[in-house]
Amino acid sequence: MLRIRLLVELANFSGLRRHLGLARAETLIDEISTRCHIELGGARVRPLSDRLVAVEFEAGGVKDAEAASARLQQSFSNPFNFDGELHLLRLRIGGAAGRDCDCEEVRLVEAAEKALAEAREQGRDVVRDDAEDENRIDPLELVHELPRAIEAGEIFLQYQPKVHVRRQQVASAEALVRWRHPTRGLVLPGEFIQAAEQSRAIGNLTLWTLERVLKDQRRLADEGHDLPIFVNMSGVLLADACFVEQACRVLGDEGARVGFEITETAVIRDPESAIRHLQRFADIGVAIAIDDYGAGLSSLAYLKQLPAKELKIDKLFVTQLTSSNRDPLIVRSTIDLAHALDMEVTAEGVETPAAMALLSVMGCDMIQGYLVSRPVEIEAFRLFLEEEAHLKALDSQRFSFLRSDRLWKSA
Ligand code: C2E
Ligand code: MG
Ligand code: MG
Repeated sequence: MLRIRLLVELANFSGLRRHLGLARAETLIDEISTRCHIELGGARVRPLSDRLVAVEFEAGGVKDAEAASARLQQSFSNPFNFDGELHLLRLRIGGAAGRDCDCEEVRLVEAAEKALAEAREQGRDVVRDDAEDENRIDPLELVHELPRAIEAGEIFLQYQPKVHVRRQQVASAEALVRWRHPTRGLVLPGEFIQAAEQSRAIGNLTLWTLERVLKDQRRLADEGHDLPIFVNMSGVLLADACFVEQACRVLGDEGARVGFEITETAVIRDPESAIRHLQRFADIGVAIAIDDYGAGLSSLAYLKQLPAKELKIDKLFVTQLTSSNRDPLIVRSTIDLAHALDMEVTAEGVETPAAMALLSVMGCDMIQGYLVSRPVEIEAFRLFLEEEAHLKALDSQRFSFLRSDRLWKSA
């Protein structure tokens, strides 16, 4: 599956503004957004300025992106009636198709911007196929380099807080791995984790991460910030008895200081051993969270059997929360489901105060996302905790009226 991003620009905005006046011109973007919604049902539509809309959706190939672009042009080929006068809204569309994974997000945004710049220059719509770009990094090559990179200190961690909305406290943090590559610059996990999972590299990388996290956690605890830190745990490792023993050895009696984030897909692959191993971790105090809930295969049967105390709603549903009709329903019912199973709910990918406000009335227990903090290195994270910077994002004044104790999981 590919992720498509189209940038739809109102090319004759300036002319229309002269005709219609400033105030009316500002509303044009809403008309364009609505029309995009109608034409491309299910697409996520977000205005970026008074003349630019971003449209994102999943599709099988670049051809679908071209077809969507042509469909939009067709639907804008008839003039709009503004107060009795007919005006054409002329669109210029630049788009890109990329792979559907976290690492591609920034790439896709950049490729779509490039396509729009080309479209303006050439006076025709342009859709780029970023998934086939030959400059892409070969993940297998990266994985080959991974042991050297760990040795050389090129791998490092960033921490992102999870904030408890009702308690207004940082509840825990998530460790996210990064690679400062000597020639390729910053490499994000989406570029190499999957390939690492197909080789033995993931085991060593995760053991290294656990050791690093334990050190950082101890240091934070000494400074008065005794928070559990969550490590992302690949499914392949959950099925690997040898890795589980090694991890338990690293954790020693410090299991309570860390948590693991696992995806359900990890469990579905080999449920019996995954559940047994998770129980082994839970027994030594490791907190278990279910990551990316809703993004992959979900199975209520397994959900009930996992010793998990936290359910993280995938950011796919959270980033579109206030602009989609469907996502709030999914999020709301997921929160109710998790509470019924006695789990706390974390929403990841919270980027705006509006999303946070809505999650808060829905009874979501914890939030994580750029609104509170981007993932940052340990020094910046210490400062964040020291300054209680999460309170700025929570802005208790503004949200207190929205809170309804009835909705939260009683704990
Ligand atoms: P994840 O565990 O679901 O992590 C959340 C991802 O969302 C992170 O991307 C994070 O930087 C990003 N993010 C956080 N807040 C926001 C927000 O407000 N908006 C948006 N759009 N994104 C946000 P990152 O760091 O690129 O990690 C991607 C994935 O790589 C992670 O997804 C996790 O599955 C995997 N990963 C990261 N570190 C490790 C690791 O040490 N081991 C394993 N096995 N996987 C890891
Ligand atoms: Mg995670
Ligand atoms: Mg996640």
